[in-house]
Amino acid sequence: MVQQSSIFSNSGANSGASVISALQPHVVLLDEAQVRAAWALMRQAGRIALLAHEHPDGDALGSALGLAHVLRSLGKTCVVACADPPPAVYQFLPGIAEVQQDLGDEAFDLVLALDAGELRRYGTLYERHRAFLEQAPIVNIDHHVTSGGCGQVNILDVASAATAEILTLMLMQLGIEISRDAATCLLTGIITDTRSFEFSATTARTLEVAAHLLRAGAVPAEIIKPVYRINPLPKARLWGRVLGAIESSLGGRLVWSVLTQEMLRSSGATADMDDGLPSYLIDIQGAEIAALFKEHADGAPRVSLRTKHPYDAAAYAAHFGGGGHVRAAGFTFQGTLEEAQRVVLAFLEEQLKKSN
Ligand code: AMP
Ligand code: MN
Ligand code: MN
Repeated sequence: MVQQSSIFSNSGANSGASVISALQPHVVLLDEAQVRAAWALMRQAGRIALLAHEHPDGDALGSALGLAHVLRSLGKTCVVACADPPPAVYQFLPGIAEVQQDLGDEAFDLVLALDAGELRRYGTLYERHRAFLEQAPIVNIDHHVTSGGCGQVNILDVASAATAEILTLMLMQLGIEISRDAATCLLTGIITDTRSFEFSATTARTLEVAAHLLRAGAVPAEIIKPVYRINPLPKARLWGRVLGAIESSLGGRLVWSVLTQEMLRSSGATADMDDGLPSYLIDIQGAEIAALFKEHADGAPRVSLRTKHPYDAAAYAAHFGGGGHVRAAGFTFQGTLEEAQRVVLAFLEEQLKKSN
């Protein structure tokens, strides 16, 4: 078992690193100086706010809650906040009921911004606490290739399949013990960002870090079942509607569909039940680029992109003011749903024709 006390000694980070180096000599570690700098800020802070990005997924929530559990066990006061309420599917996450939609009195020594590298990706939470967040000490931990970094210390590791992979590795390098609850949260982040270790972002290190979380007590089936196996009937109806609306062009190389407010209403589904749909579209045989156009109740439409090699979803999303990963990215389109389809589909067809 790793030594919790080591984090408070000068040689703490080294002893943690030597523990995992001895276990897995081939694991590529995080930059030691950055880990130390991030940890120094956390160690000094008494009250810490942990932010998950807007429209939270399993990685944003699992990372924020997982790290909050660890920091609390070290005597810190932690508040986990997210602009939007967590989707019902994550009810099993230990501590999910405590996730707040605002930062209350803003009395924090430190902010941990997790799974997004721009403050605007924290949505209305950022808008409502703008003055505070723009001057607060921030540690930003993220794995998106388009991340600018929004902290004094930024741990941006695009080789990680999930922010939770970075956090677990960071805790391993520091030699900090991870409780069962924290491990469940962190493993949820890794499992949801890799669709149970299926996506190409999964590496040997992802699995080694996940193994560490299993040894700490996390049980994959307790995560995979609620997230991927138990589908509420309204979700099945919604998927039926969206899959029924699939269209394609260029002989099936470009595949897209729409998710409208009417589809949500008629199926009785909630907006977060689209999770997994963009990946379903890109898995269609022959598809090279897939897009899902989502009508939003409260503003501009959101577009999810998925691509196969060599098409770069992150670059296409960045072109429209968004970002993400090479294979999965997204953005908000300034215009109507119809305009989004017209403009974005023409742009994507151009990309496909270029390299035909
Ligand atoms: P989604 O299509 O919403 O599942 O998003 C795919 C990936 O792109 C996720 O990792 C998101 O965090 C990221 N992403 C989505 N929208 C944005 C955005 N506006 N800016 C930066 N990254 C984004
Ligand atoms: Mn995310
Ligand atoms: Mn992530």
